[in-house]
Amino acid sequence: MTQRHPPKAENAMVLFSGGQDSATCLAWALDRFDRVETIGFDYGQRHAVELTCRAKVRAGLAALNPGWAERLGDDHLVDAGVLKGLGETAMTHEVAIETSEAGLPSTFVPGRNLLFLTLAGALAVRRGISVLVGGMCETDYSGYPDCRNDTIEAQAETLRLGLDKPMRIETPLMYVDKAGTWAMADDLGGKPLVDLIVEETHTCYLGDRAHRHDWGYGCGTCPACELRKAGWERWRAAQ
Ligand code: ZN
Repeated sequence: MTQRHPPKAENAMVLFSGGQDSATCLAWALDRFDRVETIGFDYGQRHAVELTCRAKVRAGLAALNPGWAERLGDDHLVDAGVLKGLGETAMTHEVAIETSEAGLPSTFVPGRNLLFLTLAGALAVRRGISVLVGGMCETDYSGYPDCRNDTIEAQAETLRLGLDKPMRIETPLMYVDKAGTWAMADDLGGKPLVDLIVEETHTCYLGDRAHRHDWGYGCGTCPACELRKAGWERWRAAQ
């Protein structure tokens, strides 16, 4: 596989959870930056299976492309367990996945991305990194205010001011829907990358690794599975 984008003299830190979106972002970053480190957060999520996928996806990406293997730097797993103590959400407690009266899904963890980006920025400065890459997306997650582009741009400005360093937040999936995310993976790494994402990334809110579908593992019915499945079907139908 050839590198289509000449490496920039820039290093990036990818917020990498082990899910489909952040795995695609990691491949995107490996295609563009000189050195790419990853950061993941343990915040007491109900089903930490996603975190166990991270090492497999990193190893899989390195095996796909020697250029990617060279650029892939350290992984950092950060304890963000303080989030769980702030209150119950469907991501951290045994709470039903539903939409609240305020219109926010119960899977929304208030402040989660704000905290993650702050911690990633703080680590990036110590690692000589000036670009953060995240899978935040306005298209599918209309309910998550901390995935909006306005929020991300405001936070990038806050990090630049508060850290007094150049700092950019790249969100390659911001205006891409789930079908487009599969297409992006195909574009970046062809079938081997799509296969890796199907097999080794995890999206299901219920942590289901028992049921294997064309689009990967999951219960098939939670909102995260429904999005992943619908995106896969739209992408396949467009082939
Ligand atoms: Zn599911």
